[in-house]
Amino acid sequence: MSFRMPVVVFKEANSLASNGVRRMAFCMQRVQSQRNGYMSERQQTDYIMIHCAATKPSMDITAKDIDKWHRQKGWRKIGYHWVVCRDGTVEEGREISEVGAHCRGYNDKSIGICMVGGIDEEGNPESNFTSEQWDALAKLVWQMKLPYPDAEVVGHNEFSSKACPSFNVREWWNATEVIS
Ligand SMILES: [Zn+2]
Repeated sequence: MSFRMPVVVFKEANSLASNGVRRMAFCMQRVQSQRNGYMSERQQTDYIMIHCAATKPSMDITAKDIDKWHRQKGWRKIGYHWVVCRDGTVEEGREISEVGAHCRGYNDKSIGICMVGGIDEEGNPESNFTSEQWDALAKLVWQMKLPYPDAEVVGHNEFSSKACPSFNVREWWNATEVIS
């Protein structure tokens, strides 16, 4: 269910490229493994949508915790496809080819990525993610653009009145340099 993303420095163009290719192979394998008639297979991927867990920085939760919370809500399992933990570990939620449960009206056309954190100790929205998370998120989004090159990188707050993910995703992605 979980894996650690290979450690790659952005400046090292060659190693990032080979990492990306490897990951793409992994993704496409997953897509193909789901091709045999699952009802929940997503047909369209227009968006790579970033969320936050709306947890305090002191809460070091993982995909397993979110999975538990979402099952308690009566869902089949965790709603996100990926979770970026405080230490930068990227954990898999749903299969990337599966319809997620993270944004009403857009689940059948988007991938959902959740950054752990996003509120302050008083519960107010706060962009308090770790440098490891920013790094991991950039790589993850870059890798998701390989199988889904036309997918737009967006924040949940562009589709609902929520603050989630507590930062401006478009500004962040525009300012993020991922050398391919
Ligand atoms: Zn959200």
